Amino acid sequence: MKIQILGSAAGGGFPQWNCNCDNCKGLRNGTLKAKARTQSSIAVSLNGNDWILFNASPDIRTQLESFRPLQPKQGKRDTGIAAIVLMDSQIDHTTGLLMLREGCPHPVYCTDMVKQDLSTGFPVFTMLGHWNGGLVWNQIPSHDTYNEFQVAEVPGITLTAVPLSSSAPPYSPHRNDPHPGDNIGMLLRDDATGRSLFYAPGLGRIEEHLRPVMEQADCLLVDGTLWREDEMIHAGVGDKLGVHMGHLPQSGEQGMVAYLDTLSHPRKVLIHINNTNPILIEDSPERAVLTEHGIEVAFDGMSIEL
Ligand SMILES: [Zn+2]
Ligand SMILES: [Zn+2]
Repeated sequence: MKIQILGSAAGGGFPQWNCNCDNCKGLRNGTLKAKARTQSSIAVSLNGNDWILFNASPDIRTQLESFRPLQPKQGKRDTGIAAIVLMDSQIDHTTGLLMLREGCPHPVYCTDMVKQDLSTGFPVFTMLGHWNGGLVWNQIPSHDTYNEFQVAEVPGITLTAVPLSSSAPPYSPHRNDPHPGDNIGMLLRDDATGRSLFYAPGLGRIEEHLRPVMEQADCLLVDGTLWREDEMIHAGVGDKLGVHMGHLPQSGEQGMVAYLDTLSHPRKVLIHINNTNPILIEDSPERAVLTEHGIEVAFDGMSIEL
């Protein structure tokens, strides 16, 4: 199974267009040892030709231009994107759908909750209905703890959707009334080799039912948004804590690093990194802590082969 990191930053990207935090400023001024990053998205394939796109980032145009296997290969109009899977209905994970309108129809796999948000508060399903068949919805089941399904366009991978407790976006009609399926994590297993990836770019807390999934996966690609719980306040760019953003910080006794330490089997990679996070600076003490704990930081253009 081939996994391509198209974008590794959280919402806003790195640098964020209107952000003057130490990281964004330092990257622009060339005074930090760090790489620019686009908003998070990955693509997964078995044969290298037909890819499942996980989330459609606002930066999708740049991401497609930077990865040859997703570009046209035959005929006058073509794409390597065989199907699209959405993990939630957040702007930084779904706005890219609008940029793909010239290639409609597209098969889109998401939960009924995400479909509802994207047909009401942010109605991309409705809007794109005006473009050659638009987005063709395939339901991701989310009523059980572990929901197995297949993406028909890319056979040979068994996907398991795992509901994660978190809030729907501000424009969701059920913003203050959380449902299973508002946000999911995903286990992807290559049927031929048995090798598996667990992908969860938004992980607010590590619930009990995640343990067996994270233990069995060969690679974890999980929430790397924040280093510290009060990072937005500390950086002077916001007033929200990690807990309110649905992102578990890396540091602290209950943090992601401490949790990942309890898992010996999988390769551990952080993705969806906010521009305020010190792990973006390659020679920072925080980055050194990750290295010491065997944890990698995803970057745009990174390839993982399982
Ligand atoms: Zn996000
Ligand atoms: Zn910033």
